Amino acid sequence: MSYDLLIVGSGPGGYVAAIRAAQLGFKVGLIEQYPVPGGTCLNVGCIPSKALLESSGAYESAAKAGSMGVLVEGLQADWPAMVARKDQVVAQNHKGLAYLFKKNQIDWIQGKAKLLGPGQLEVSGQGILAAKHLLLATGSKPASLPFAPPDGQNILTSTEALSLAELPKSLLVIGGGVIGLELGQVFHRLGTEVTVIELTDGLLPEMDRELGKELLRCLKKQKLGFKLGHRLEALKLQAGGVVAQGQDPKGNPFELSAEKALVAVGRKPYTSGLGLEEAGVLLDQRGFIQVDPQFQTNLPGVYAFGDVIGGAMLAHKASEEGVWLVEQLANQTPHRSTIPAVVYSHPEVAAVGLSEEQLKAQGIAYSVGKFNFRALGRAMAAGAADGFAKLLTDEASGKLLGIHLIGERVTDLIATAALALDQGLKAEELGRLCYAHPSFSEALKEAALDAWNHQSIHQ
Ligand code: FAD
Repeated sequence: MSYDLLIVGSGPGGYVAAIRAAQLGFKVGLIEQYPVPGGTCLNVGCIPSKALLESSGAYESAAKAGSMGVLVEGLQADWPAMVARKDQVVAQNHKGLAYLFKKNQIDWIQGKAKLLGPGQLEVSGQGILAAKHLLLATGSKPASLPFAPPDGQNILTSTEALSLAELPKSLLVIGGGVIGLELGQVFHRLGTEVTVIELTDGLLPEMDRELGKELLRCLKKQKLGFKLGHRLEALKLQAGGVVAQGQDPKGNPFELSAEKALVAVGRKPYTSGLGLEEAGVLLDQRGFIQVDPQFQTNLPGVYAFGDVIGGAMLAHKASEEGVWLVEQLANQTPHRSTIPAVVYSHPEVAAVGLSEEQLKAQGIAYSVGKFNFRALGRAMAAGAADGFAKLLTDEASGKLLGIHLIGERVTDLIATAALALDQGLKAEELGRLCYAHPSFSEALKEAALDAWNHQSIHQ
């Protein structure tokens, strides 16, 4: 069987590209080493972590319900039930994807793929398959520390943390990045004593610095423990758990013990067994596949996208890249849209465009508009007064340059912000839109009015 397109990897990069390619009339084969589709995102990433965040969030809301006039007695966190629900959510999505593959006549090919050269792959159990275009979307795996290899029992990666049999009494989270903070919050809400050990002196260093500062303030208020500026040098197993050792910001030794440790120090490209070296595909120093702006590798007709090429490790980035690529292959004129960054902590964090630090570094003159959630009627009604909307605009033209949000539901709100930025709108245009009242979206309007002429209504 010869295909127009063979796609390796059924994560949000590969499967979305497969569906779009099939819609455009390509004959598509989707190759996946595991028996189920969805990649990191569906199986051990976005969806299971959000299912657990929702369950732990429901528990937390019930625990605080007294302040809302709701009396709850006998409240308990049933962790095994939460894990079982999470597994059900994932399984439902597997069924949904199988339906979509059938509907779009995509060939599901299970096996491990190895690149033989342009147009040819060998797939375990399937033999050699040929296609005009080969698309590699093999994603990423958790990175580990050389001195702290995960054992799956006490030193965990995010994958094991999502399916623990029991709630740990205490947890060290190594790394204050997105994954560590999200999972740390799940366990903290359910009663685990969580301490985050982070090398740098703040959270979310790649985002506008004000977001990380506000998130740190909120998480400390929730009583999550932080050891910022701490250099971890050893993580060892000991009776009853783990012990972490290293240096504090002053260079003094520190030692912390806990039942378990979650190593969340980033992710590395997953190219093992893919035959890239033998086929002569160029990788960068960190092992990511090198591509040109059209996602083409140095081999003709061989493309790569998603986590395996680096950049933001986000599911929607992988999907957007895949769609852009197959539309390009179908001779369409795809639009390269702005990729929002999101963190599903509580409060949530979301951003598009340039940060204040980036504008300063690029010497761009800008104005700032800001609006605090505590001045929003809806936020007060919801008991969710933390956070703000911050807009950065070009000083001369008023055109939006960056939108940075922290607060309730901002991972949904960011879609409006991304559209505004994508369409090159000015703060005035965003500010003059009518927003439903009372809604969290009003923070965006008010911040836009502030950025336009410093005349927000409620501040
Ligand atoms: P992947 O999803 O990693 O899929 C790659 C697939 O390729 C895998 O199924 C793999 O088995 C397969 N494969 C690899 N090599 C071969 C081979 N040789 N042959 C056959 N198959 C192969 N992102 C968000 O945007 N939002 C979130 O809320 C979010 N939460 C996350 C939470 C956690 C705990 C983690 C770990 C990640 C999270 N992410 C989130 C990141 C997101 O999961 C990734 O960015 C996304 O899955 C990348 O998609 P991908 O298609 O590039 O690769």
